[in-house]
Amino acid sequence: AKNGGRDHARMFSQQLQDQQLQQLHLESDLRHAIERQQLVLHYQPRIDAVGGLLHGVEGLIRWHHPRRGLIAPDSFVPLAEESGLIVPIGAWVIREACRQHLAWRAAGAGEIAISINLSAIQLKNGALVASLREVLAEFPVAPGQIEFELTESILMDNVDDTIATLRQIKALGFGLSIDDFGTGYSSLNYLCRFPLDKLKIDMSFVQNIHSSPQNLAVTKAIIGLGHTLGLTVTAEGVESAADADVLRHAGCDELQGYYFSRPMPQAQLLAWLQGVEQP
Ligand code: C2E
Ligand code: CA
Ligand code: CA
Ligand code: CA
Repeated sequence: AKNGGRDHARMFSQQLQDQQLQQLHLESDLRHAIERQQLVLHYQPRIDAVGGLLHGVEGLIRWHHPRRGLIAPDSFVPLAEESGLIVPIGAWVIREACRQHLAWRAAGAGEIAISINLSAIQLKNGALVASLREVLAEFPVAPGQIEFELTESILMDNVDDTIATLRQIKALGFGLSIDDFGTGYSSLNYLCRFPLDKLKIDMSFVQNIHSSPQNLAVTKAIIGLGHTLGLTVTAEGVESAADADVLRHAGCDELQGYYFSRPMPQAQLLAWLQGVEQP
Protein backbone atom coordinates (compact mmCIF):
# COMPACT_ATOMS: atom_id res chain seq x y z
CA ALA A 1 0.00 0.00 0.00
CA LYS A 2 2.96 2.25 0.78
CA ASN A 3 4.38 1.69 -2.67
CA GLY A 4 1.00 2.30 -4.24
CA GLY A 5 0.84 5.61 -2.41
CA ARG A 6 4.24 6.63 -3.68
CA ASP A 7 3.33 5.64 -7.24
CA HIS A 8 0.20 7.62 -6.87
CA ALA A 9 2.15 10.65 -5.66
CA ARG A 10 4.56 10.30 -8.59
CA MET A 11 1.68 10.07 -11.04
CA PHE A 12 0.08 13.09 -9.45
CA SER A 13 3.24 15.15 -9.71
CA GLN A 14 3.62 13.98 -13.34
CA GLN A 15 0.07 15.20 -14.00
CA LEU A 16 0.88 18.51 -12.39
CA GLN A 17 3.95 18.86 -14.57
CA ASP A 18 1.91 18.06 -17.67
CA GLN A 19 -0.64 20.68 -16.70
CA GLN A 20 2.05 23.25 -16.10
CA LEU A 21 3.65 22.40 -19.44
CA GLN A 22 0.30 22.74 -21.18
CA GLN A 23 -0.20 26.12 -19.51
CA LEU A 24 3.24 27.19 -20.70
CA HIS A 25 2.47 26.10 -24.27
CA LEU A 26 -0.86 27.87 -24.15
CA GLU A 27 0.78 31.01 -22.82
CA SER A 28 3.41 31.09 -25.54
CA ASP A 29 0.67 30.45 -28.13
CA LEU A 30 -1.38 33.28 -26.65
CA ARG A 31 1.62 35.57 -26.93
CA HIS A 32 1.30 35.29 -30.74
CA ALA A 33 -2.49 35.15 -30.96
CA ILE A 34 -2.95 38.83 -31.80
CA GLU A 35 -0.39 39.04 -34.61
CA ARG A 36 -1.61 35.70 -36.01
CA GLN A 37 -5.14 37.12 -36.04
CA GLN A 38 -6.55 34.26 -33.98
CA LEU A 39 -8.61 36.44 -31.65
CA VAL A 40 -12.17 37.32 -32.53
CA LEU A 41 -15.11 39.04 -30.88
CA HIS A 42 -18.53 37.46 -30.92
CA TYR A 43 -21.51 39.72 -30.32
CA GLN A 44 -24.58 39.11 -28.20
CA PRO A 45 -27.63 41.38 -28.64
CA ARG A 46 -28.88 43.53 -25.78
CA ILE A 47 -32.59 44.12 -26.24
CA ASP A 48 -34.80 46.98 -25.10
CA ALA A 49 -37.12 45.25 -22.60
CA VAL A 50 -40.18 47.27 -23.62
CA GLY A 51 -39.83 47.95 -27.34
CA GLY A 52 -37.97 44.75 -28.21
CA LEU A 53 -35.48 46.64 -30.40
CA LEU A 54 -31.74 46.21 -30.37
CA HIS A 55 -30.08 48.45 -27.77
CA GLY A 56 -26.57 47.30 -28.60
CA VAL A 57 -24.36 44.25 -28.31
CA GLU A 58 -21.81 42.89 -25.89
CA GLY A 59 -18.51 41.95 -27.54
CA LEU A 60 -17.11 38.72 -26.08
CA ILE A 61 -13.66 37.44 -26.94
CA ARG A 62 -12.86 34.00 -28.38
CA TRP A 63 -9.58 32.45 -29.47
CA HIS A 64 -9.34 30.40 -32.66
CA HIS A 65 -6.50 28.10 -31.66
CA PRO A 66 -4.93 26.29 -34.64
CA ARG A 67 -5.04 22.88 -32.90
CA ARG A 68 -7.50 23.24 -30.03
CA GLY A 69 -10.24 24.98 -31.96
CA LEU A 70 -12.40 27.75 -30.55
CA ILE A 71 -11.41 28.52 -26.95
CA ALA A 72 -13.86 30.31 -24.62
CA PRO A 73 -12.67 33.28 -22.58
CA ASP A 74 -12.98 31.48 -19.25
CA SER A 75 -10.20 29.15 -20.49
CA PHE A 76 -7.68 31.82 -21.44
CA VAL A 77 -8.59 35.22 -19.94
CA PRO A 78 -7.30 34.14 -16.49
CA LEU A 79 -4.03 33.04 -18.14
CA ALA A 80 -3.87 36.35 -20.00
CA GLU A 81 -4.35 38.16 -16.70
CA GLU A 82 -1.64 36.18 -14.87
CA SER A 83 0.86 36.72 -17.66
CA GLY A 84 0.04 40.38 -18.24
CA LEU A 85 -0.99 39.58 -21.83
CA ILE A 86 -4.44 40.93 -21.01
CA VAL A 87 -3.07 44.46 -21.51
CA PRO A 88 -2.26 44.08 -25.24
CA ILE A 89 -5.23 41.72 -25.70
CA GLY A 90 -7.57 44.17 -23.99
CA ALA A 91 -6.20 46.98 -26.17
CA TRP A 92 -6.91 44.80 -29.20
CA VAL A 93 -10.51 44.24 -27.98
CA ILE A 94 -11.12 47.99 -27.67
CA ARG A 95 -9.76 48.72 -31.15
CA GLU A 96 -11.61 45.77 -32.67
CA ALA A 97 -14.89 46.99 -31.16
CA CYS A 98 -14.35 50.45 -32.64
CA ARG A 99 -13.38 49.01 -36.02
CA GLN A 100 -16.47 46.77 -36.04
CA HIS A 101 -18.76 49.61 -34.98
CA LEU A 102 -17.54 51.64 -37.98
CA ALA A 103 -17.74 48.64 -40.32
CA TRP A 104 -21.39 48.03 -39.38
CA ARG A 105 -22.14 51.70 -39.88
CA ALA A 106 -20.47 51.62 -43.30
CA ALA A 107 -22.52 48.51 -44.16
CA GLY A 108 -25.72 50.46 -43.47
CA ALA A 109 -26.56 48.71 -40.20
CA GLY A 110 -26.64 52.01 -38.31
CA GLU A 111 -25.04 52.80 -34.97
CA ILE A 112 -24.74 49.56 -33.04
CA ALA A 113 -23.42 50.33 -29.56
CA ILE A 114 -20.85 47.84 -28.32
CA SER A 115 -20.06 47.04 -24.70
CA ILE A 116 -16.80 45.31 -23.82
CA ASN A 117 -15.35 43.84 -20.67
CA LEU A 118 -12.40 45.44 -18.91
CA SER A 119 -10.07 43.44 -16.72
CA ALA A 120 -8.83 44.71 -13.34
CA ILE A 121 -5.29 44.64 -14.72
CA GLN A 122 -6.22 46.91 -17.62
CA LEU A 123 -7.87 49.35 -15.26
CA LYS A 124 -4.84 49.43 -12.96
CA ASN A 125 -2.44 49.82 -15.86
CA GLY A 126 -1.61 53.52 -15.88
CA ALA A 127 -1.71 53.72 -19.69
CA LEU A 128 -5.43 52.93 -20.15
CA VAL A 129 -6.76 56.48 -20.36
CA ALA A 130 -3.98 57.60 -22.73
CA SER A 131 -4.62 54.58 -24.96
CA LEU A 132 -8.34 55.39 -25.03
CA ARG A 133 -7.51 58.90 -26.17
CA GLU A 134 -5.41 57.44 -28.97
CA VAL A 135 -8.23 55.14 -29.99
CA LEU A 136 -10.60 58.11 -30.28
CA ALA A 137 -8.06 59.98 -32.37
CA GLU A 138 -7.72 57.03 -34.70
CA PHE A 139 -11.35 55.89 -35.03
CA PRO A 140 -14.16 58.37 -35.71
CA VAL A 141 -16.48 56.65 -33.24
CA ALA A 142 -18.84 58.58 -30.97
CA PRO A 143 -17.46 57.45 -27.58
CA GLY A 144 -20.97 57.01 -26.20
CA GLN A 145 -21.29 54.07 -28.61
CA ILE A 146 -18.61 52.19 -26.68
CA GLU A 147 -19.36 51.04 -23.17
CA PHE A 148 -17.05 49.37 -20.67
CA GLU A 149 -18.24 46.66 -18.31
CA LEU A 150 -16.46 46.27 -14.99
CA THR A 151 -17.35 43.69 -12.39
CA GLU A 152 -18.39 44.70 -8.94
CA SER A 153 -15.23 43.24 -7.37
CA ILE A 154 -12.99 45.27 -9.72
CA LEU A 155 -14.77 48.47 -8.69
CA MET A 156 -14.58 47.80 -4.98
CA ASP A 157 -10.85 47.12 -5.04
CA ASN A 158 -8.97 50.36 -4.41
CA VAL A 159 -12.06 52.54 -4.63
CA ASP A 160 -10.48 56.00 -4.76
CA ASP A 161 -8.04 55.22 -7.59
CA THR A 162 -10.80 53.42 -9.47
CA ILE A 163 -13.15 56.39 -9.18
CA ALA A 164 -10.42 58.74 -10.45
CA THR A 165 -9.74 56.53 -13.49
CA LEU A 166 -13.43 56.02 -14.22
CA ARG A 167 -14.05 59.77 -14.10
CA GLN A 168 -11.38 60.22 -16.77
CA ILE A 169 -12.90 57.49 -18.93
CA LYS A 170 -16.35 59.04 -18.44
CA ALA A 171 -14.96 62.50 -19.31
CA LEU A 172 -13.84 61.07 -22.67
CA GLY A 173 -17.49 60.20 -23.27
CA PHE A 174 -17.46 56.40 -22.92
CA GLY A 175 -20.25 54.53 -21.15
CA LEU A 176 -19.63 52.58 -17.94
CA SER A 177 -21.47 49.57 -16.54
CA ILE A 178 -21.17 47.50 -13.41
CA ASP A 179 -21.19 43.81 -14.41
CA ASP A 180 -22.24 40.67 -12.47
CA PHE A 181 -23.97 42.84 -9.90
CA GLY A 182 -25.14 41.14 -6.72
CA THR A 183 -22.34 38.58 -6.41
CA GLY A 184 -19.62 40.84 -5.04
CA TYR A 185 -19.52 42.93 -1.96
CA SER A 186 -20.50 46.41 -3.15
CA SER A 187 -20.91 48.97 -0.50
CA LEU A 188 -23.98 50.96 -1.43
CA ASN A 189 -22.18 53.88 0.11
CA TYR A 190 -19.53 53.68 -2.62
CA LEU A 191 -21.81 52.68 -5.44
CA CYS A 192 -23.24 56.15 -5.92
CA ARG A 193 -19.73 57.62 -6.14
CA PHE A 194 -18.86 55.74 -9.35
CA PRO A 195 -19.77 57.56 -12.57
CA LEU A 196 -21.85 54.64 -13.86
CA ASP A 197 -24.54 54.50 -16.55
CA LYS A 198 -25.74 50.95 -16.20
CA LEU A 199 -26.05 48.04 -13.83
CA LYS A 200 -26.07 44.43 -15.07
CA ILE A 201 -27.77 41.99 -12.72
CA ASP A 202 -25.81 38.79 -12.34
CA MET A 203 -27.15 35.79 -14.21
CA SER A 204 -27.49 33.74 -11.04
CA PHE A 205 -30.48 35.89 -9.98
CA VAL A 206 -32.00 36.01 -13.44
CA GLN A 207 -32.02 32.36 -14.37
CA ASN A 208 -35.38 30.69 -13.76
CA ILE A 209 -36.70 33.87 -12.23
CA HIS A 210 -40.23 32.89 -13.31
CA SER A 211 -40.16 29.97 -10.84
CA SER A 212 -38.08 31.45 -8.03
CA PRO A 213 -39.83 33.99 -5.79
CA GLN A 214 -36.54 34.54 -3.98
CA ASN A 215 -34.62 35.43 -7.17
CA LEU A 216 -37.50 37.66 -8.20
CA ALA A 217 -37.42 39.51 -4.87
CA VAL A 218 -33.65 40.08 -5.10
CA THR A 219 -33.92 41.16 -8.73
CA LYS A 220 -36.70 43.63 -7.96
CA ALA A 221 -34.61 45.10 -5.14
CA ILE A 222 -31.61 45.48 -7.48
CA ILE A 223 -33.77 47.11 -10.17
CA GLY A 224 -35.12 49.56 -7.56
CA LEU A 225 -31.60 50.34 -6.37
CA GLY A 226 -30.32 50.83 -9.93
CA HIS A 227 -33.19 53.16 -10.82
CA THR A 228 -32.73 55.12 -7.59
CA LEU A 229 -29.13 55.71 -8.64
CA GLY A 230 -30.30 56.79 -12.10
CA LEU A 231 -28.88 53.73 -13.85
CA THR A 232 -30.18 51.67 -16.74
CA VAL A 233 -30.71 48.12 -15.49
CA THR A 234 -29.85 45.09 -17.64
CA ALA A 235 -30.63 41.46 -16.92
CA GLU A 236 -28.32 38.93 -18.52
CA GLY A 237 -28.75 35.20 -18.78
CA VAL A 238 -32.36 35.48 -19.96
CA GLU A 239 -33.09 32.02 -21.34
CA SER A 240 -36.86 31.87 -21.75
CA ALA A 241 -39.87 33.93 -22.77
CA ALA A 242 -41.29 33.42 -19.28
CA ASP A 243 -38.19 34.92 -17.68
CA ALA A 244 -38.18 37.82 -20.16
CA ASP A 245 -41.84 38.59 -19.29
CA VAL A 246 -41.21 38.57 -15.55
CA LEU A 247 -38.18 40.85 -15.96
CA ARG A 248 -40.10 43.27 -18.17
CA HIS A 249 -42.88 43.48 -15.59
CA ALA A 250 -40.33 43.98 -12.82
CA GLY A 251 -39.19 47.13 -14.63
CA CYS A 252 -35.91 45.90 -16.09
CA ASP A 253 -34.74 48.14 -18.97
CA GLU A 254 -32.59 45.86 -21.06
CA LEU A 255 -32.47 42.09 -21.60
CA GLN A 256 -29.68 39.85 -22.80
CA GLY A 257 -29.47 36.08 -23.03
CA TYR A 258 -29.75 32.88 -25.03
CA TYR A 259 -33.53 33.38 -25.35
CA PHE A 260 -32.80 36.26 -27.76
CA SER A 261 -29.52 34.99 -29.12
CA ARG A 262 -26.19 33.46 -28.22
CA PRO A 263 -23.09 35.52 -28.93
CA MET A 264 -22.37 35.25 -32.67
CA PRO A 265 -19.77 36.28 -35.26
CA GLN A 266 -20.30 39.73 -36.75
CA ALA A 267 -21.72 38.55 -40.10
CA GLN A 268 -24.27 36.37 -38.33
CA LEU A 269 -25.33 39.31 -36.18
CA LEU A 270 -26.16 41.29 -39.32
CA ALA A 271 -28.27 38.42 -40.67
CA TRP A 272 -29.99 38.07 -37.28
CA LEU A 273 -30.80 41.80 -37.28
CA GLN A 274 -32.42 41.58 -40.70
CA GLY A 275 -34.48 38.69 -39.40
CA VAL A 276 -35.85 40.51 -36.35
CA GLU A 277 -36.42 43.80 -38.10
CA GLN A 278 -38.53 42.35 -40.87
CA PRO A 279 -42.22 42.90 -40.20
P1 C2E B 1 -19.59 38.14 -18.75
O1 C2E B 1 -19.02 39.46 -19.09
O2 C2E B 1 -20.44 38.04 -17.55
O3 C2E B 1 -20.36 37.66 -20.08
C1 C2E B 1 -21.54 36.93 -20.08
C2 C2E B 1 -21.28 35.46 -20.35
O4 C2E B 1 -22.50 34.74 -20.23
C3 C2E B 1 -20.77 35.17 -21.76
O5 C2E B 1 -19.92 34.03 -21.69
C4 C2E B 1 -22.07 34.82 -22.49
O6 C2E B 1 -21.87 34.03 -23.63
C5 C2E B 1 -22.80 34.07 -21.42
N1 C2E B 1 -24.26 34.12 -21.61
C6 C2E B 1 -24.99 35.06 -22.24
N2 C2E B 1 -26.30 34.78 -22.20
C7 C2E B 1 -26.43 33.62 -21.51
C8 C2E B 1 -27.56 32.81 -21.13
O7 C2E B 1 -28.72 33.10 -21.42
N3 C2E B 1 -27.28 31.68 -20.41
C9 C2E B 1 -26.01 31.34 -20.06
N4 C2E B 1 -25.83 30.22 -19.36
N5 C2E B 1 -24.92 32.07 -20.41
C10 C2E B 1 -25.13 33.21 -21.12
P2 C2E B 1 -18.50 34.02 -22.42
O8 C2E B 1 -18.59 34.67 -23.75
O9 C2E B 1 -17.99 32.62 -22.35
O10 C2E B 1 -17.64 34.97 -21.50
C11 C2E B 1 -17.32 34.59 -20.17
C12 C2E B 1 -16.62 35.70 -19.43
O11 C2E B 1 -15.33 35.97 -19.99
C13 C2E B 1 -17.34 37.04 -19.50
O12 C2E B 1 -18.40 37.04 -18.56
C14 C2E B 1 -16.22 37.99 -19.15
O13 C2E B 1 -16.04 38.04 -17.75
C15 C2E B 1 -15.01 37.32 -19.78
N6 C2E B 1 -14.70 37.97 -21.06
C16 C2E B 1 -15.27 37.80 -22.28
N7 C2E B 1 -14.71 38.61 -23.20
C17 C2E B 1 -13.77 39.33 -22.54
C18 C2E B 1 -12.84 40.37 -22.94
O14 C2E B 1 -12.79 40.81 -24.10
N8 C2E B 1 -12.01 40.86 -21.98
C19 C2E B 1 -12.08 40.42 -20.68
N9 C2E B 1 -11.23 40.96 -19.80
N10 C2E B 1 -12.93 39.46 -20.28
C20 C2E B 1 -13.77 38.93 -21.19
CA1 CA C 1 -19.87 41.46 -19.32
CA1 CA D 1 -21.84 39.53 -16.61
CA1 CA E 1 -18.98 36.94 -15.50
